[in-house]
Amino acid sequence: MNDCIFCKIVDGVIPSKKVYEDESVFAFYDIAPHAPIHVLVIPKSHIGSADEINIDNSSIISRIFEVIPKIAKLAGITNGYRIISNCGPDACQTVKHLHFHILGGKTMKEKLI
Ligand code: AMP
Ligand code: ZN
Repeated sequence: MNDCIFCKIVDGVIPSKKVYEDESVFAFYDIAPHAPIHVLVIPKSHIGSADEINIDNSSIISRIFEVIPKIAKLAGITNGYRIISNCGPDACQTVKHLHFHILGGKTMKEKLI
């Protein structure tokens, strides 16, 4: 049994506030937002993190980035957004299913890089 909470969100076993869904991508609001608008964009298929992207599964990455502009608009982001993907322990990744944080709705003062 797959114990991944984001796989369970894709399957509807765990509820979420959905923003967007197609055959391979799912997007939903983060339960603990770090910005006025905070959406998580994930592949429906389980990939543990960016560290598990390879030649066999990388097409989902271009698909995700193709639909991020649409997802940002659907979420009401109008003035730019930040995309973050934490990968592995040193980056403090907490959910081991690849996800891209889309943060918007305010001018972000802090810049990590
Ligand atoms: P990360 O720390 O980069 O792995 O991000 C995981 C994110 O998932 C955090 O921002 C959490 O708030 C979010 N999260 C965890 N569980 C849920 C859930 N059930 N619904 C929505 N977001 C969640
Ligand atoms: Zn998963």
